Amino acid sequence: MTVTEKIDTELLNAPVSRKTFDEVLVPTYAPSNVLPVRGSGLDVWDQEGKHYLDFTAGIAVTALGHAHPVLVEALTRQANTLWHVSNGFTNEPVLRLARALTAATFADRAFFCNSGAEANEAAFKLARKYAHAKFGAGRSRIVSCISSFHGRTLFTVSVGGQAKYTEGFEPLPPQIDHIPYNDVEAARAAIGDDVCAVVVEPIQGEGGVIPATREYLQALRQLCDQTGALLIFDEVQSGMGRSGELFAYMGYGVTPDILTAAKALGNGFPIGAMLTTEELAKTLAVGSHGTTYGGNPLAATVALNVVNIISQPAFLARVKAAGVQLVAMLQGLVRDYPQLFAEVRGVGLLQGLVVTKQFSGRSKDVTRAIEAQGLLLLIAGGDVLRLAPALIVSDAQIVEAGRLMRLGIDAFLAASSGK
Ligand SMILES: *Cc1c(COP(=O)(O)O)cnc(C)c1O
Repeated sequence: MTVTEKIDTELLNAPVSRKTFDEVLVPTYAPSNVLPVRGSGLDVWDQEGKHYLDFTAGIAVTALGHAHPVLVEALTRQANTLWHVSNGFTNEPVLRLARALTAATFADRAFFCNSGAEANEAAFKLARKYAHAKFGAGRSRIVSCISSFHGRTLFTVSVGGQAKYTEGFEPLPPQIDHIPYNDVEAARAAIGDDVCAVVVEPIQGEGGVIPATREYLQALRQLCDQTGALLIFDEVQSGMGRSGELFAYMGYGVTPDILTAAKALGNGFPIGAMLTTEELAKTLAVGSHGTTYGGNPLAATVALNVVNIISQPAFLARVKAAGVQLVAMLQGLVRDYPQLFAEVRGVGLLQGLVVTKQFSGRSKDVTRAIEAQGLLLLIAGGDVLRLAPALIVSDAQIVEAGRLMRLGIDAFLAASSGK
């Protein structure tokens, strides 16, 4: 038992450090010792004033970099105007945002929430309800992929294909099956007349940065058309310009019935979206679903500006060009460190660098060594280093990232061989 402290000025102003996390946060994460306090573009500074080049963008979130001037200006203006109204009213920013997203995509309708998990939750609820209304009971199976990630609510971890995230949280929602990713035969066998939805990430992010093949997404589309199941693309990570298209489905030429977005949509300001067609949207009639904060004026203003910038053809063309540069840099590492790296895979500015069998499970150790040199990187499981720089990354920053990676890798290998 602890003595209750008063929230006085002294407490509010007392310094905080990484150690404070271990004292007062629920230990769901094990954050780095680097404690960022300020960012600008791809530059980040920690509490000690040390500079880092950020090739994480959160986790593919701050796609326009930290403190983007257009977003700062728009958010500040909106903060001085109107923060919130209940869903008993609508607001101008959310109307503009929905109009922009539906104009730019296959969708006719948008539903806004606060995260990727909530966007997927809305998509899965819509699919179940649509099947009930259209076909009656007995059509509630959801088919998802092994190693997929769809969020952390009970429904979304259950649909996600990673057992470690559901263990201990049983009982789970029933009627959810997992099939191997990119396996057309497994999809044929699993998708029958009792399936209400098939959900897939066009590029598996958390699962190891694995792009779907075009044949796979085409086969899923065909199977859904044959059976009446809805095809849901989770583009929470692959969307918003990351692949070099506004959404990855556009590059594949395969259109879903429902698309979910979040992460980069708000560039760090919480917002998620579920996009769908006119017909399917009718499923979620007045009173059937909702959220207090979804599509509030602050989030919608930021997202509107993000969509406007990222959807420009010249911006997306530059993402593709930067992606080519990034892949070339990473292939240089595979060539020069064949004992450590096996291959590069990904799309656009979402790239994975796969470690060899010899170093299986060591991706975190490699990124920590690179972090010590001043470059922030992500992992995607124990065997993959994940690079997801802001989409505004310059060629010079890619060159610099390569230099810092080599320094960190040399230090890592020197330490490993000493063991
Ligand atoms: C991050 C992520 C989610 C979950 O988004 P949250 O905002 O953390 O709820 C869902 N799907 C994919 C593909 C993701 O990468």
